[in-house]
Amino acid sequence: MRHALTAVLAAVSLSSIASAQTAPATPVPQPSGQSAIGAAIARDMDGLMTLYRDLHASPELSLQEVNTAAKLAKRLKALKFDVTEKVGGTGVVAVMKNGSGPTLLIRADMDGLPVVEQTGLDFASKVRTRTPEGVETGVMHACGHDTHMTAFIATAKLLAARKDQWKGTLVMILQPAEEVGKGARDMLEDGLYTRFPRPTHAIAFHDAANLTAGVIGYTPGYALANVDSVDILVKGVGGHGAYPQTTKDPIVLGARIVTTLQTLISREQEPQDPAVVTVGSFQAGAKHNIIPDEAKLLLTVRSYSDETRARLIEGIRRVARGEAMAAGVPEDRMPVVSVKDEFTPSTYNPPAFAEQMAGLLKSHFPESRVVQTPAVMGGEDFGRFYRADKSINSFIFWVGGVPADRMAAAAAGQATLPSLHSPFWAPQADRVIATASEAMTVLALDILKKD
Ligand SMILES: [Zn+2]
Ligand SMILES: [Zn+2]
Repeated sequence: MRHALTAVLAAVSLSSIASAQTAPATPVPQPSGQSAIGAAIARDMDGLMTLYRDLHASPELSLQEVNTAAKLAKRLKALKFDVTEKVGGTGVVAVMKNGSGPTLLIRADMDGLPVVEQTGLDFASKVRTRTPEGVETGVMHACGHDTHMTAFIATAKLLAARKDQWKGTLVMILQPAEEVGKGARDMLEDGLYTRFPRPTHAIAFHDAANLTAGVIGYTPGYALANVDSVDILVKGVGGHGAYPQTTKDPIVLGARIVTTLQTLISREQEPQDPAVVTVGSFQAGAKHNIIPDEAKLLLTVRSYSDETRARLIEGIRRVARGEAMAAGVPEDRMPVVSVKDEFTPSTYNPPAFAEQMAGLLKSHFPESRVVQTPAVMGGEDFGRFYRADKSINSFIFWVGGVPADRMAAAAAGQATLPSLHSPFWAPQADRVIATASEAMTVLALDILKKD
């Protein structure tokens, strides 16, 4: 699937992608209307890239985005937004009221990842820290949230400078802790919709490691998945490895559970409704000749609808208990299945609004730069802003970051592309930032348009 998509997108010619950095060779008439936005971004690109490099070189882990938040809050204040800091942890809410009209929430996420950067960029992160679990690690913006923040500031500038072209209220938010699925929930619980104007519309973007730089992808309906982490503690009765008849072996039982879990997808799941159950960790035992007391399985479970999610979790409980019963495990040693708190709900783009937004982008950018993309099994907590109030018109879109020559090499089988979260992910940042800020500004000016 990814290969086919790669080939199609590689066919998008370089010439169709306007470079924000290419100055016209001869004087051209001053652009008017929407094309003026692209020109304004191009004029500002040196400053934006300085901000981007600074953010890239100084990433902070989830829930620790203190300096990042302070730095950007200062810029928003300078643009005359009404800025509130420390909303839901390190979150920032910047409000600009401009008469009556809709209330548009624009969101960027701020956190980096515990990844040791290996891009070789001259502004690569050298930051080292300890995770809350005590693991020493490097820190990197390996998910491209630095491009999100830079495009967010660019968009704030463009909209603040065009107050005569829109009416309504802007609520621009910098969200912490996307990577651990906590930040959106923390901001909502800290009164995002009660202490500040309640949004009627919400937009965001994410950079994409499978789209050519400057290409916009959109997905009506479910765009990203429900992400659950599930632990299964398989209890047995331990003993000597030479006398298995005196034990209930949790390793054999755990292996059966792993195998039967596969049928939740292959035999019970509607084939047109994709879902995933992956056992990512199986830990048990300490020595060759000891049957241990217990085994531990760690699962990631992905789905789109609430119904499928509930069915899979029920199925995991049923399989674990059923296999334990088949193995003759006593009732008081049944497996313990726990669904972790770090759930990220699926992200849904209400289809009519997604088509309307995509239509706007298609009328603004060359047609080849706006493509419909399939839903992915990754997760994003932007979906929480919509789930908290389903009357909100919500839309998240992708902006490709892969240089066109790299995409072509990958399509020809001569290169493999790093994914998001890879220590090698180095998006073509100027194109991501220029495209995303132009797209967000175009959408915002339409949502908040004057009569
Ligand atoms: Zn990420
Ligand atoms: Zn991300």
